[in-house]
Amino acid sequence: MTARTVRDYIRTIHDFPHEGILFRDVTTLFADARGFRMAVDQILHDHTGQRIDKVVGLEARGFILGGAVAHQLSTGFVPIRKKGKLPGAVISEAYTLEYGEAVMEIHDDALKPGDKVLIVDDLLATGGTAEASVKLCRRLGAEVVGCAFVIDLPELGGRKRLERTGIPVTALCEFD
Ligand code: IMP
Repeated sequence: MTARTVRDYIRTIHDFPHEGILFRDVTTLFADARGFRMAVDQILHDHTGQRIDKVVGLEARGFILGGAVAHQLSTGFVPIRKKGKLPGAVISEAYTLEYGEAVMEIHDDALKPGDKVLIVDDLLATGGTAEASVKLCRRLGAEVVGCAFVIDLPELGGRKRLERTGIPVTALCEFD
Protein backbone atom coordinates (compact mmCIF):
# COMPACT_ATOMS: atom_id res chain seq x y z
CA MET A 1 0.00 0.00 0.00
CA THR A 2 1.44 3.41 -0.93
CA ALA A 3 1.39 6.21 1.64
CA ARG A 4 -1.26 8.89 1.29
CA THR A 5 -0.09 12.17 -0.20
CA VAL A 6 -1.43 15.66 0.51
CA ARG A 7 -3.52 15.39 -2.65
CA ASP A 8 -5.28 12.28 -1.34
CA TYR A 9 -6.71 14.23 1.62
CA ILE A 10 -8.41 16.85 -0.57
CA ARG A 11 -12.11 16.35 -1.21
CA THR A 12 -13.88 17.42 -4.40
CA ILE A 13 -17.39 18.85 -4.12
CA HIS A 14 -19.43 19.01 -7.30
CA ASP A 15 -21.52 22.08 -8.19
CA PHE A 16 -20.18 24.39 -5.44
CA PRO A 17 -20.56 27.34 -5.29
CA HIS A 18 -22.29 27.13 -8.70
CA GLU A 19 -23.48 24.38 -10.98
CA GLY A 20 -20.66 22.95 -13.07
CA ILE A 21 -17.87 23.95 -10.64
CA LEU A 22 -15.63 21.32 -9.05
CA PHE A 23 -14.68 22.78 -5.66
CA ARG A 24 -11.42 21.47 -4.22
CA ASP A 25 -12.09 21.30 -0.49
CA VAL A 26 -9.06 21.44 1.83
CA THR A 27 -11.12 21.18 5.04
CA THR A 28 -10.65 17.40 4.86
CA LEU A 29 -6.87 17.93 4.63
CA PHE A 30 -6.85 20.38 7.54
CA ALA A 31 -9.05 18.10 9.67
CA ASP A 32 -6.60 15.22 9.47
CA ALA A 33 -3.64 15.52 11.87
CA ARG A 34 -1.24 13.72 9.54
CA GLY A 35 -2.48 15.49 6.41
CA PHE A 36 -2.32 18.96 7.96
CA ARG A 37 1.19 18.42 9.31
CA MET A 38 2.30 17.02 5.95
CA ALA A 39 1.01 20.10 4.12
CA VAL A 40 2.66 22.56 6.52
CA ASP A 41 5.94 20.61 6.56
CA GLN A 42 6.05 20.44 2.75
CA ILE A 43 5.50 24.19 2.44
CA LEU A 44 8.35 24.72 4.91
CA HIS A 45 10.52 22.30 2.95
CA ASP A 46 9.79 24.08 -0.37
CA HIS A 47 10.98 27.36 1.17
CA THR A 48 13.96 26.11 3.17
CA GLY A 49 16.90 28.48 3.19
CA GLN A 50 14.88 31.58 2.28
CA ARG A 51 14.91 34.44 4.76
CA ILE A 52 11.28 35.03 5.73
CA ASP A 53 10.34 37.85 8.11
CA LYS A 54 6.56 37.60 7.81
CA VAL A 55 4.05 35.09 6.53
CA VAL A 56 1.11 36.72 4.72
CA GLY A 57 -2.05 34.58 4.57
CA LEU A 58 -4.95 35.20 2.18
CA GLU A 59 -8.54 35.07 3.41
CA ALA A 60 -9.73 32.66 4.51
CA ARG A 61 -8.04 29.27 4.23
CA GLY A 62 -4.66 30.98 3.86
CA PHE A 63 -5.08 32.10 7.49
CA ILE A 64 -5.21 28.49 8.72
CA LEU A 65 -2.19 27.37 6.72
CA GLY A 66 -0.25 30.61 7.03
CA GLY A 67 -0.74 30.73 10.80
CA ALA A 68 0.74 27.25 11.16
CA VAL A 69 3.64 28.06 8.80
CA ALA A 70 4.40 31.31 10.67
CA HIS A 71 4.36 29.47 14.00
CA GLN A 72 6.82 26.88 12.71
CA LEU A 73 9.09 29.61 11.30
CA SER A 74 8.73 31.76 14.44
CA THR A 75 7.72 34.73 12.28
CA GLY A 76 4.78 37.09 12.54
CA PHE A 77 1.59 36.53 10.55
CA VAL A 78 -0.18 39.20 8.48
CA PRO A 79 -3.69 38.76 7.02
CA ILE A 80 -4.82 40.03 3.61
CA ARG A 81 -8.61 40.25 3.67
CA LYS A 82 -11.53 41.01 1.44
CA LYS A 83 -12.72 44.62 1.40
CA GLY A 84 -14.14 46.03 4.62
CA LYS A 85 -13.02 43.32 7.06
CA LEU A 86 -9.83 44.81 8.54
CA PRO A 87 -10.38 47.27 11.40
CA GLY A 88 -7.39 49.62 10.95
CA ALA A 89 -6.22 51.89 8.13
CA VAL A 90 -5.75 49.85 4.94
CA ILE A 91 -4.47 50.00 1.40
CA SER A 92 -6.58 48.26 -1.26
CA GLU A 93 -6.01 46.52 -4.56
CA ALA A 94 -8.84 45.73 -6.99
CA TYR A 95 -8.70 42.89 -9.50
CA THR A 96 -11.01 41.46 -12.11
CA LEU A 97 -13.05 38.30 -11.60
CA GLU A 98 -14.89 36.34 -14.26
CA TYR A 99 -17.98 38.39 -13.36
CA GLY A 100 -17.13 41.72 -11.77
CA GLU A 101 -14.39 42.87 -9.46
CA ALA A 102 -12.92 41.96 -6.07
CA VAL A 103 -10.85 44.03 -3.66
CA MET A 104 -8.19 42.77 -1.24
CA GLU A 105 -6.83 44.85 1.65
CA ILE A 106 -3.90 44.90 4.06
CA HIS A 107 -3.30 47.12 7.09
CA ASP A 108 -1.08 49.97 5.95
CA ASP A 109 1.38 49.37 8.83
CA ALA A 110 1.47 45.55 8.63
CA LEU A 111 4.76 45.33 6.69
CA LYS A 112 7.92 47.42 6.74
CA PRO A 113 10.12 48.31 3.77
CA GLY A 114 12.60 45.47 3.25
CA ASP A 115 10.50 42.82 5.01
CA LYS A 116 10.83 39.49 3.25
CA VAL A 117 7.40 37.94 2.88
CA LEU A 118 6.02 34.50 2.05
CA ILE A 119 2.43 34.58 0.74
CA VAL A 120 0.36 31.49 1.59
CA ASP A 121 -3.04 30.35 0.31
CA ASP A 122 -4.86 27.07 -0.25
CA LEU A 123 -5.39 27.26 -3.99
CA LEU A 124 -4.04 29.03 -7.08
CA ALA A 125 -6.58 29.36 -9.90
CA THR A 126 -6.32 32.42 -12.21
CA GLY A 127 -3.81 34.05 -9.88
CA GLY A 128 -5.84 37.25 -9.54
CA THR A 129 -6.08 37.07 -5.74
CA ALA A 130 -2.40 36.28 -5.28
CA GLU A 131 -1.27 38.90 -7.80
CA ALA A 132 -3.30 41.60 -6.02
CA SER A 133 -1.72 40.43 -2.75
CA VAL A 134 1.79 40.66 -4.21
CA LYS A 135 0.99 44.24 -5.25
CA LEU A 136 -0.23 45.13 -1.75
CA CYS A 137 2.95 43.75 -0.14
CA ARG A 138 5.15 45.57 -2.66
CA ARG A 139 3.28 48.86 -2.14
CA LEU A 140 4.32 48.65 1.54
CA GLY A 141 7.94 48.16 0.44
CA ALA A 142 8.13 44.46 1.31
CA GLU A 143 9.86 41.90 -0.88
CA VAL A 144 7.75 38.84 -1.72
CA VAL A 145 10.21 35.94 -1.71
CA GLY A 146 7.65 33.26 -2.60
CA CYS A 147 4.02 32.27 -3.01
CA ALA A 148 3.07 28.89 -1.53
CA PHE A 149 -0.14 27.00 -2.33
CA VAL A 150 -1.48 23.57 -1.52
CA ILE A 151 -3.23 23.26 -4.90
CA ASP A 152 -2.45 24.61 -8.35
CA LEU A 153 -5.03 24.46 -11.13
CA PRO A 154 -2.56 24.79 -14.03
CA GLU A 155 -5.22 25.12 -16.72
CA LEU A 156 -6.28 28.45 -15.24
CA GLY A 157 -2.83 29.98 -15.74
CA GLY A 158 -2.21 31.44 -12.29
CA ARG A 159 1.32 30.11 -11.97
CA LYS A 160 2.41 31.71 -15.26
CA ARG A 161 0.74 34.98 -14.32
CA LEU A 162 2.45 35.06 -10.91
CA GLU A 163 5.82 33.99 -12.26
CA ARG A 164 5.70 37.03 -14.56
CA THR A 165 6.00 39.10 -11.36
CA GLY A 166 9.37 37.34 -10.83
CA ILE A 167 8.25 35.48 -7.72
CA PRO A 168 8.88 31.75 -7.21
CA VAL A 169 5.62 29.80 -6.93
CA THR A 170 5.28 26.44 -5.18
CA ALA A 171 2.29 24.12 -4.95
CA LEU A 172 1.97 20.74 -3.26
CA CYS A 173 -0.30 19.20 -5.90
CA GLU A 174 -2.28 19.90 -9.05
CA PHE A 175 -5.85 19.24 -10.23
CA ASP A 176 -7.24 19.59 -13.78
P1 IMP B 1 -7.77 33.02 -8.20
O1 IMP B 1 -7.73 34.44 -7.72
O2 IMP B 1 -8.56 32.83 -9.46
O3 IMP B 1 -6.38 32.41 -8.30
O4 IMP B 1 -8.57 32.17 -7.12
C1 IMP B 1 -7.95 31.76 -5.93
C2 IMP B 1 -8.79 32.10 -4.74
O5 IMP B 1 -10.08 31.54 -4.87
C3 IMP B 1 -8.16 31.51 -3.50
O6 IMP B 1 -8.24 32.44 -2.41
C4 IMP B 1 -8.95 30.25 -3.24
O7 IMP B 1 -9.15 30.03 -1.86
C5 IMP B 1 -10.29 30.48 -3.94
N1 IMP B 1 -10.72 29.29 -4.72
C6 IMP B 1 -11.02 29.24 -6.02
N2 IMP B 1 -11.39 27.98 -6.39
C7 IMP B 1 -11.31 27.23 -5.28
C8 IMP B 1 -11.54 25.81 -5.00
O8 IMP B 1 -11.89 24.97 -5.87
N3 IMP B 1 -11.31 25.43 -3.73
C9 IMP B 1 -10.90 26.27 -2.77
N4 IMP B 1 -10.69 27.59 -2.99
C10 IMP B 1 -10.89 28.06 -4.23
